[in-house]
Amino acid sequence: MTPAMEPQVNVTGKLWIGGDWRDAASGKTFEVMNPATETPLMPVAEAGEADIDLAVTAAQKAYTEGDWPKMTAAGRGQLLWKIGDLLLANAGELARIETMNNGKPIFESRQVDVPAAAACFHYYAGWATKIHGETIPVPGNFLNYTLREPLGVCGAIIPWNFPLLMAAWKLAPALACGNTVVLKPAEQTPLTALKLAEILEQAGLPAGVVNIVPGFGPTAGAALVRHPGVAKIAFTGSTAVGKEIMREAAGTLKKVSLELGGKSPNIVFADADLDAAVRGAINGIFYGKGEVCAAGSRLFVESSIHDEFLGKLTERASKLQVGDPLHPKTRVGALVSSGQMKKVLDYIEAGNREGAKLVTGGGRASVGDGKGYFVKPTIFDQATNTMKIAREEIFGPVLAAIEFRDIEDAISQANQTVYGLAAAVWTRDIKKAHKAARALQAGTVWINTYNMLDTASPFGGYKMSGFGRELGQHGLEMYTQTKSVWVDLND
Ligand code: NAP
Ligand code: MG
Repeated sequence: MTPAMEPQVNVTGKLWIGGDWRDAASGKTFEVMNPATETPLMPVAEAGEADIDLAVTAAQKAYTEGDWPKMTAAGRGQLLWKIGDLLLANAGELARIETMNNGKPIFESRQVDVPAAAACFHYYAGWATKIHGETIPVPGNFLNYTLREPLGVCGAIIPWNFPLLMAAWKLAPALACGNTVVLKPAEQTPLTALKLAEILEQAGLPAGVVNIVPGFGPTAGAALVRHPGVAKIAFTGSTAVGKEIMREAAGTLKKVSLELGGKSPNIVFADADLDAAVRGAINGIFYGKGEVCAAGSRLFVESSIHDEFLGKLTERASKLQVGDPLHPKTRVGALVSSGQMKKVLDYIEAGNREGAKLVTGGGRASVGDGKGYFVKPTIFDQATNTMKIAREEIFGPVLAAIEFRDIEDAISQANQTVYGLAAAVWTRDIKKAHKAARALQAGTVWINTYNMLDTASPFGGYKMSGFGRELGQHGLEMYTQTKSVWVDLND
């Protein structure tokens, strides 16, 4: 597609602070790209330390003064519900912007990202009126009760793989609990967050309750993490940056929740419904171009079905439609950036070098005029758990298939990783399935399915995949603190 033909995006490329659209204090902007065409979409203001300070100050003011602290829980619930409705009303445009900015297939943005973001606001709308303390039967003539209070200003730092959905996961529970937020989107994908700002405004969210500040991690992100006016940082992204954030947050003892990377095992036993398992394995690694924290990037296949399974899997993978992300039939879009593509291609090289057997894919895919960061769905067979491609998070459409002997071998290899975000097992044996679910060290275990998520069900990591649970009732714990109040009833 030539730049002239490209449909443009209707987004305000500024910082949204205290309800106003502002240029960066430095006047700097950065170019946001379409990874499928390698062309610029639009410039966006680049927040620096001064802008972060302004945004935190606006969020502090909105937390303590004006309409937000006066609003009833029911009022907050109604507002969140309205935001969910407006997301759905604008679903077509949001999906198109997401796809043009991130490179993910429009099928995904339209069917998953936007409706799931709306569902998150609708879900937490219901919780706003159900967050309350308890009375505790203490000894003596005392009344003891607890208050569940918001934390104050929360900083949210999110990645580029699910830009709108990650914004929703952070904002909806934080707002349901009465906090205010400063959100820094990923540098590659700030556009749907800026569109969301328009929706928040339209829904009637008081000025400064949410502030959206596109910018870079080491500058804008780090300034948010250091800021003494921020009570908590909710972060989703790489394990390396997660560690850095934890170290930095120690300076002001901020609360931190981290949703980090993964190298999730997808285990197929010989007694599984193999066709369903093939579909699950494909979805597990090629959904979202494999740029998914819970991607099933290590496929463990029981020896007795190995050849049959790999045959079916390879055939299906080679038929996946890689192409223009805006085309409704496309199933694998463009990787988010040239940097991410290079990283993925380097891993493919490492797989070849280490002696894994490349059975399909293995390089860039040519789409249209040859522009765009497309990588073919790639499968390595005969990988071992110690290879680089089986140890490190690739974050792309690259699968490492590894054989196993029996359940003990499968679980032991599956758990041999620093990560623990998700895992899956495919079997018709109910005992084996639940035994595996208990033994796998992961925050989510899927049985005979993959990538199932719902706003009502908690999501988060074991081990170096982070801590804290997002979504569901558990998500509320990340955005409230408990106060114990004692009353002397003695005469
Ligand atoms: P990343 O660097 O961890 O980025 C995540 C977010 O953190 C972005 O908003 C980023 O800003 C910000 N950030 C970076 N350095 C920071 C700092 N020192 N202080 C505060 N915030 C900071 O991830 P990435 O570079 O985009 O991707 C690298 C790898 O991370 C991927 O290849 C993948 O392995 C992993 N990843 C995991 C997830 C997940 O869902 N768990 C999501 C995305 C990526 P900038 O955008 O400006 O860097
Ligand atoms: Mg980065």
